[in-house]
Amino acid sequence: MNKNITVLSGDGIGPEIIREAIKVLDKVGEKFGHTFNYTYVDIGGCSIDKYGVPITDENMQKCKDADSVLLGAVGGPKWDNCPSNIRPEKALLAVRKELGLFANLRPTKLFPQLANASPLKQEIVGNGIDLLIVRELTGGVYFGEKKTEVINGEVLATDIMPYSESEIERIGRVAFETAMKRNKKLASVDKANVLETSRLWRKVMHRLAEEYPEVEYSDILVDNTAMQLIKNPTQFDVLVTENMFGDILSDEASMLTGSIGMMPSASLSSTTLGMYEPIHGSAPDIAGLDIANPLGTILSVAMMLRYSFDMKEEADAIEFAVNKTLDDGYRTGDIMQEGKIKVGCKKMGDLVRDRI
Ligand code: NAD
Repeated sequence: MNKNITVLSGDGIGPEIIREAIKVLDKVGEKFGHTFNYTYVDIGGCSIDKYGVPITDENMQKCKDADSVLLGAVGGPKWDNCPSNIRPEKALLAVRKELGLFANLRPTKLFPQLANASPLKQEIVGNGIDLLIVRELTGGVYFGEKKTEVINGEVLATDIMPYSESEIERIGRVAFETAMKRNKKLASVDKANVLETSRLWRKVMHRLAEEYPEVEYSDILVDNTAMQLIKNPTQFDVLVTENMFGDILSDEASMLTGSIGMMPSASLSSTTLGMYEPIHGSAPDIAGLDIANPLGTILSVAMMLRYSFDMKEEADAIEFAVNKTLDDGYRTGDIMQEGKIKVGCKKMGDLVRDRI
């Protein structure tokens, strides 16, 4: 297969971690007979420096024209005082909007080799954690009507949380399909005891559940989910939830692993075009030092193969290579443990590539 990937390296450690991910992708191409073509495009701070905007229209078009988009990270102290309309992060929101990326997939995987990095007790996470949160990304309270007004001499602020049936069905389908590709277990997170939007959410999810009889489906309230993620995270396979609940729960879940450098993510549209990125930021404190952990970005590339290109075997090969590298005792500084071999960003990329 021949695939065109627009690469947004971004700022800080972005270019370093992207370089390692591309190295691994090229090896996959070589081994499985695919050609990956890359178009490198500026985004974030480096684009502000060159063009005065976080992403140009021409570069946005290159994202839309691609088969998929790979992102490093954007931002850094240099651009912290930019006016709010040209901040580096604005480019991310613009890309999500322009590409119609409505589904955010955040796997939380605690590799058993790194179990002691988790803040949870060994008896809870000793066998690792492997769950995935599907978050609705373009609806709900973050995008609903907002106002601040004075009523009877008092300031009143309101944020409306709208969800239409079709928006819920669209994210629900992604979740059921994702569950079908994993362990066929889905929990839908809502607050149906209080919220009208959650009651509609539940109704639509139940309707979809009938279409996917192979998926073991359950409803869970968001407050209980927050507790269960700490108490017994291994009970979950796929969780699906609306925008704000997903924002909060996915950050909670990522902390269960204790290693931000390991976590990939995918943002999907209604076509196969998606954007893939590690969950961490541009880590300006370690940029240019060759010590960043590239595994979150490398695992993001595995998600791109799995979800945008339907290359399951190739995605498995990357995940296997990461596992094997950890099994062989190699660690970047952020996940270093006593008795293991400390390596830099570039070396970690080489080690994974050599295990493909
Ligand atoms: P951060 O995720 O960049 O860094 C937090 C801490 O984790 C730092 O100590 C950093 O060194 C470490 N870290 C992060 N990634 C690592 C990796 N791969 N390997 C080893 N250590 C790693 O968060 P921050 O410091 O709050 O933000 C820095 C900049 O990144 C800010 O400008 C912020 O706005 C931006 N940011 C961008 C994105 C994105 O591009 N998607 C996401 C979050 C933050």
